[in-house]
Amino acid sequence: MDCLFCKIINKTIKSDIIHDDKECIAFNDINPQAPVHFLIVPKKHIPTVLDIKEEDKKLIGHMVSVANKICRDRKIDLRGFRLVFNCNPDSGQVIYHIHMHVLGGRKMNWPPG
Ligand code: 5GP
Ligand code: ZN
Repeated sequence: MDCLFCKIINKTIKSDIIHDDKECIAFNDINPQAPVHFLIVPKKHIPTVLDIKEEDKKLIGHMVSVANKICRDRKIDLRGFRLVFNCNPDSGQVIYHIHMHVLGGRKMNWPPG
């Protein structure tokens, strides 16, 4: 399958991996929008959040747990951080393999642009 994130998962394409387990990987975003900006990506190819099925619910919960652990390790947990899933064109989704953006290390604006 011609999917950039599947290639990162199977290590055909190099990335700066910060977490790797049976269900998901996390790596630093190539174009960071904050001092901390990494992506948590399930190993299962799911194109958009609209394609998440009943059987994937545990996987999505696991991705949030991994985000929490990394944010605690990096000591940005108490200051705060933002978790973002983009879905479809209006959101700016570019890679059609779901990924959770984890952004932190600076004050965020609301509403987002
Ligand atoms: P989206 O807009 O689909 O929610 O986010 C895709 C993200 O993937 C963007 O923040 C972009 O910078 C990041 N990205 C795109 N290509 C690569 C790559 O080859 N390596 C890494 N590490 N990040 C990438
Ligand atoms: Zn994929």
